Amino acid sequence: MPGTGQNLLADTTVKLARQTNARIQGLIAQAPDLQARYETARKIIRAFRRPSFYEVSQKCNLWCEGCYYFENDKRQVVGNEMSDDGWDAFFAAEDDRGVSMAYLVGAEPSLYPHRLRAATKNIRYGKIGTNGTVVIPRDISFRIGISVWGNETDDAVLRGGSVLRKAMRNYTGDPRAVMLFTLSPWNLDSVGDVLKAAEDHDVKLTFSMYSATTSYLAKLTAGTAADSKYFRLGPSLARAVFTDADLAKAHEAMLDAMQRYPDTVIFSAEYADLITRPGPLYDMDPETGLPLDCGSRIRDPLRYFDTAGTQKQVKCCTPDVDCNHCRLYSGSWSKLFKPTQKHLADQGSFEGWLSMIETIGQIFLYPFPFESTA
Ligand code: SF4
Ligand code: SF4
Repeated sequence: MPGTGQNLLADTTVKLARQTNARIQGLIAQAPDLQARYETARKIIRAFRRPSFYEVSQKCNLWCEGCYYFENDKRQVVGNEMSDDGWDAFFAAEDDRGVSMAYLVGAEPSLYPHRLRAATKNIRYGKIGTNGTVVIPRDISFRIGISVWGNETDDAVLRGGSVLRKAMRNYTGDPRAVMLFTLSPWNLDSVGDVLKAAEDHDVKLTFSMYSATTSYLAKLTAGTAADSKYFRLGPSLARAVFTDADLAKAHEAMLDAMQRYPDTVIFSAEYADLITRPGPLYDMDPETGLPLDCGSRIRDPLRYFDTAGTQKQVKCCTPDVDCNHCRLYSGSWSKLFKPTQKHLADQGSFEGWLSMIETIGQIFLYPFPFESTA
């Protein structure tokens, strides 16, 4: 009978949701103090109910080694970008579609403030991914995630300029800003310098992990000669993928940072365990070669639009990154929205899950904590 399979799936999903809810209520009955935290967690999760990615820029002012955007041989340049009026109308329509969360990505979104402003006027929550070298005007009230690749020396080598210093100067004390420190096998020794700079400039900081593109890894494997663009250092750098020893070092650095800079670092010990686990982080589909459980996969309700306003069928917002080595923060954070049996095993693991969801709120939502509506 047509539809039977779908009905069965819907029944199973409803049954699972009921079981999950019953388990959570049981845990809260044992520890009533957790009720308020759970309500906040639900509110955070609701903010992501209809998310969408928007590529608002095809240009960048930096030359980062192994750039996830430009070091992609298959990337197609969009020739018919929307006009300013077009962006206004586009985001108004996205609001009508019920989009609750906008991820504004590029290349470098800060080069197009009008596009960012059009989004902020229409969509409730948003997160802009920027390199921090160009100030995003204060009236653009979205969370701003600033990519940091290391200290001054790392910047000069890896990004072709003094990025950290400019970003810190631009965002000193800015409540919208969160430095997204991308740990890589190349910068594990400079973590302390970056933390100190963040604390000195009163800017929050969290961690992601460098994840190489397939194009970059293929060049390394083939022994391709260095070029003058995004593969300047490849042949001379030790490695682009974390070894198990690197992962242990990164894990230690994350926990140490949380302990030493509790007012600056936004992170979670449970998440540090998860993101630095050796081996692939995701369950890969042998047929498609794509991860089954990555929260950043572009599938309903998550959509991805290019600068012409065209919806694209891409696997995620960094389509050339190799899923087998991917440790980017977005995919792993967003797979946590549905608690697993492990998260609900006992009060301790439930609190760990709540703490991870609260961390998501701090990293992705602005303003956060939520403003009182009373
Ligand atoms: S700032 Fe981002 S888009 Fe620009 S070169 Fe660096 S990694 Fe690429
Ligand atoms: S975010 Fe997900 S889909 Fe994208 S590269 Fe990483 S694992 Fe693959």
